Amino acid sequence: MDFLASKFEDIHPSLLLFLHRLQCIAVHNDLTGSTQVMYREDLVNGLVRVAHDGQQVTWLVVRHQLQAAVFRPGITVTEIALAFTLRQLSSMLYEASPEQQQVFAFLPLRAYGLRFIVQGDFILPSSREEVDRDSAWNQWLRSEIPEAFMKASEMFKSLPSLGSPGRAASQFMQYVPLEGEVLGFFSPLPRIIHARLQGTQCLPVEGLEEWTFPCVLVQGWNDAVRKLIPDTILKEHLGLQYLDKEVQLSDSLASSLGVQKYGVHMLVALMKSLCQKKGAVESLGLEWVRTWLIALHDSLLVKQQTTHIMSQQDKEASLLGDLQSLQFIPLVDGSFSSLTDGTIWFSSHGIENRYVTDDSLSCYPLIFAELRTADPLLFMNEHEGEGSIVLKAGRGSSKGINFVNSGKVRRMLQQLGVMPMSAHEVVRNHVLPAMAEANCLGRDTHLVVQYLAYVKWHLQSGCSKCMNDRIYMQLKENAVILTSNGLCRLNKGNIHFGLAMGNPFDVQSILEGTSVEWNEVDTSYLQLSSPHDMTSDVGSWRKFLSGLGVMDFVKVLPVERQVSDKAASLWQNVIWQGDGGPQGGWIVQDWESPELIDIMTAVCSFVDVVVKEKGEKASGKAEKCASLLLALDKLWSTKFSSSWRAKYRRLEDTKDAWRGETEASWVMQVRNLKWVMSSLDGQLHTPTALFQQCEAVERFLGSHAHYAIPQVGTASLWEYFVDTMNFDTLNLK
Ligand SMILES: [Zn+2]
Repeated sequence: MDFLASKFEDIHPSLLLFLHRLQCIAVHNDLTGSTQVMYREDLVNGLVRVAHDGQQVTWLVVRHQLQAAVFRPGITVTEIALAFTLRQLSSMLYEASPEQQQVFAFLPLRAYGLRFIVQGDFILPSSREEVDRDSAWNQWLRSEIPEAFMKASEMFKSLPSLGSPGRAASQFMQYVPLEGEVLGFFSPLPRIIHARLQGTQCLPVEGLEEWTFPCVLVQGWNDAVRKLIPDTILKEHLGLQYLDKEVQLSDSLASSLGVQKYGVHMLVALMKSLCQKKGAVESLGLEWVRTWLIALHDSLLVKQQTTHIMSQQDKEASLLGDLQSLQFIPLVDGSFSSLTDGTIWFSSHGIENRYVTDDSLSCYPLIFAELRTADPLLFMNEHEGEGSIVLKAGRGSSKGINFVNSGKVRRMLQQLGVMPMSAHEVVRNHVLPAMAEANCLGRDTHLVVQYLAYVKWHLQSGCSKCMNDRIYMQLKENAVILTSNGLCRLNKGNIHFGLAMGNPFDVQSILEGTSVEWNEVDTSYLQLSSPHDMTSDVGSWRKFLSGLGVMDFVKVLPVERQVSDKAASLWQNVIWQGDGGPQGGWIVQDWESPELIDIMTAVCSFVDVVVKEKGEKASGKAEKCASLLLALDKLWSTKFSSSWRAKYRRLEDTKDAWRGETEASWVMQVRNLKWVMSSLDGQLHTPTALFQQCEAVERFLGSHAHYAIPQVGTASLWEYFVDTMNFDTLNLK
């Protein structure tokens, strides 16, 4: 009897929902004398009220009539019914009550995790514990549940007692089963229902009495966002519409249905689309770009606060990378440009002077005019205080937001790669790259003069970053300088100081009338003024340019050369340790000065001409030779004395096993040229044919010897140029 009584307890009030004609069930238990009465009342719009034990529950019941698609003896039609519990808030207003419900096969079976009742004519095993999962009939019935659910979706849309469309959709969406929530035989339902909803106009559009597909809707927006991206722009550029603001969806359901989320991705996608349409960003204007930057800043912040996964941060970096090629940054000149078109700088005007440099660039107006600077209006604004652009960061809407937002714009631009205008960055990112470009040699000389002067000024200002960034090394590689022969690269060709730059030798007058090219630093460098009255005099320029390789006279450079046939070389008459050994070459660690040899050769072959107008010689050959001699003498101890000896070894000797020293090739070449005047005949001779006039020599040779003139101060100079054999013979040493 107890068993039978418990069976009666299975008679659930919900049973009344699915029995078409039955309105009331009364169960009287004679053993306990108790009576249970359940009523059903059909209301309008598919609502059904069930009352029992003084309680009332309202349901929305959706019936789905079916022709049997799977054979079952004696059955040609059947029905799936779904029932959704609603909680009554007032006489006219209901809300969802999405508790877990059971699956019924006329009597309740068990809960499978669904939030609505499923009633179907399921085939049950004898235990009646759950639906027979292997039954083709059951599987077919299950496959019809999503269709019934879609029917329910339509009914919810039009149920007046659920309020506005947004509210109705929110109520319905609470019943949508989520992946992982539904168990056993019914577990495939969430995936299928989501797929059906994706293809259904199941969500309302903000501002329109329309419903549309989830994938074209945006959630997570607020009024400030909608003001920034009006409906028309959203639709035109992204094909999206705003989801009714009353709709509340869990993140997981929204994402599964394909609802778009307002945020970084959307903002970037919008800008990409705008930039593809000519004039689109321009027509929206600077103030719009500014608000967009603030929105991007806030969205990134929210994202960073909610995501700590590395891969997400990488994606973010790649999104920002995409922005660098888009032409949306307003420049001072009114144009909109991209960072990949060249460095963009924060303007030196505007309210945030602490982020920009001093006015050092005012001394270099041509450089300043070249810099692409972001419009300072980006950091000043009059129309703010209308609320934060991001829902979750709502604190920004108080007074004082102007400065906060200007900071956001600046930070965002900086994150995108806009550079603060500091002298170091201008040198590193603008001046040095500009000088490194091949076309720099063809640019306005006044500008290029300012380039070098600006770097000089900056390096002398004691910048600590320059050391780390190897600015000086880069300058040595790429510096371009204005010379008497136009713009030249410092590391290609020889550049010299002129008289105005403190060169003690008037090389120009030596070379006058010859074809030797001699580059002298242009004097316009001395005419530039420096910021903060920093020195820009000859001394500071000589120091700076000397470091970069500019010289007064000629360069003597080390060179390792292989001499395969000594008898045919400059050293044919010089005896080396190892001469007469096996046939083979030599290695000579030599010094050379092609520049000096060019000059001397040109001077030696110079033919004096008479300038008719003045009737006098224009810098005669003898005078040129005498000037060269004086220059060599003056520079001997500092420039040449350390580079006149070469080292030699045989080719087969081990490295560094030098056999001895010999005269450097440039010395040998100079010895062979006739460029020193004799006191005896006034003609030019090779230096080896002459003697230095000094007391020791005069004692032996008197006044009948060829002495070199003019006399020079460095006695040792002659030792290197005259044939040392002469001295040995004369016992002068
Ligand atoms: Zn620096």
